[in-house]
Amino acid sequence: MILFPSLEVLWAALPEARVVGGAVRDTLAGKKLADVDLAAPLSPDEVMARLTTARIKSIPTGIAHGTVTALVADQHFEITTLRRDVKTDGRHALVAFTDDWQEDASRRDFTINAMSMDRNGRLFDYFGGVTDLRAGVVRFVGDAKTRIAEDYLRIMRFFRFFARYAVGAPDTEAVDAIEELRDGVLLLSAERVWSELKRILAAAQPVTALQLMQTTGVLERVLPEGFDIDRLAALIARGAPLDIMLRAAALLAGEIKTTAAQLKLSNEEAEILQRLQIPNTLHPTATDADLRRALANDDAPTLIARTWFVENWESLRTRLAATPRPVFPLQGRDLTELGIPQGPRIGKILAAVRRWWMENGCTATREDCRAQALLTIIK
Ligand code: ATP
Ligand code: MG
Repeated sequence: MILFPSLEVLWAALPEARVVGGAVRDTLAGKKLADVDLAAPLSPDEVMARLTTARIKSIPTGIAHGTVTALVADQHFEITTLRRDVKTDGRHALVAFTDDWQEDASRRDFTINAMSMDRNGRLFDYFGGVTDLRAGVVRFVGDAKTRIAEDYLRIMRFFRFFARYAVGAPDTEAVDAIEELRDGVLLLSAERVWSELKRILAAAQPVTALQLMQTTGVLERVLPEGFDIDRLAALIARGAPLDIMLRAAALLAGEIKTTAAQLKLSNEEAEILQRLQIPNTLHPTATDADLRRALANDDAPTLIARTWFVENWESLRTRLAATPRPVFPLQGRDLTELGIPQGPRIGKILAAVRRWWMENGCTATREDCRAQALLTIIK
C-alpha cells in the first residue's frame, strides 16, 4: 500500500520501519491523512545514520524520546524508536528503547491507535483495532483504569477519538474508568485541555462526545464557567460551517474572559470568542443602511458567523456577504488641512463626524465628511 510516494524513498533506507498510529487508522477508515508517523526497531542514531547514507535530510527533533524527523520532497515524517514505559506519573512517562513491536503497541492509548503497517502493506493489529474501528468502538489497550492513571490526558484523548470514530454506545469499561478518575483532568495543563477541546470540536459531529463528557462529569471540570451543548447542537443543525472558534463560542457559557484565562487561550483566540459572543445587533429585517453600519464596525465573516446563533437568517447572511464593507473616508490629515491643529481635538471631531456618517448610513463621501467636520467646528 502506497500512502505517499515519498514514503517509498524512506522505506528504501529503513525497510524495517512501519507506519504507526493515526495514519494506519485513518487509511483503514478511508479518511484523509493528516501526517504519517513511523516507528523503527533502531536507535535514533542508527536512524539518522541510515538517512544520511540515503541522502535524506534528517532533523533530530526529539532525540531524547527517540524521534527523528526525515524530510523527503518537502514532506515531514517523524520516525520514532520503539519504546516501552519504564515509569509513568499521570502525564510524563520515562521510556526505554526496545525492538519489540508489540511492547511499543501496548503503550499506545486505544486499540485503533495501536496498529502498524509495514512496507508491503502487511497490517499488525495486536489488540483488535480493525474490529473496533469497523464497529466504531474506542477501547483502551489493556485495563482502562490503569491506562488512564498512567496519563490523565488519555481521558481527553478518549473523547477526541470517540467524537471522530464512535458509532453507538461507548465502551462501558472506558466510561466507568473515566467517571472514577475524572478528577485527573484537573492535573492537566490548561493548554493541553484547550488543545484537546478544539480537537473534539473539530470532529464533524462533536455533540454526542460532549454529552458523554457531561454525563461522566469531565466537562464541568474542564469548563467550570459553564457550557451550553444545546446551543452548539442547534448551531450545527442549522448548517453552520465547521469553524472551531464559532463552535467554541456556542459551547462556552459564562464569562469568556474567565474561561480564556483559565484555559490560557491566546489573546487572539480570546478576542475572536468575545467578538462572536456579542449579541446580534442585526435582524433579518435590517435595512441596507443597518447592514452598512454593522459592517463599518465588524467585518463580514464575524457578522455572518454571529447569524448562526439564530434561526432562519439565511437571507441576512447572503446580504452581508454581498455588501461591501464601508470605510469611514475622513482621516486626521483632512482635519489638519482644514486648519485644525494637531491634538486631542482632532480625535473628538473625527469621532463626531464618524457618528454622523454612521447615522446617515455610511454613504457620505470624503467631501461630505469634510463639510460636516467644518460644521462641527463652527458649532
Ligand atoms: P490525529 O489525527 O488526531 O493526529 P493521531 O493518532 O495521529 O491522531 P496523535 O496525538 O498525533 O494522534 O498521536 C500519535 C499516536 O501516538 C497515537 O495514534 C497513539 O498511538 C500514540 N499516542 C499519542 N499520545 C498518546 C498518549 N497520551 N498515550 C498513549 N498513546 C499515545
Ligand atoms: Mg497525529
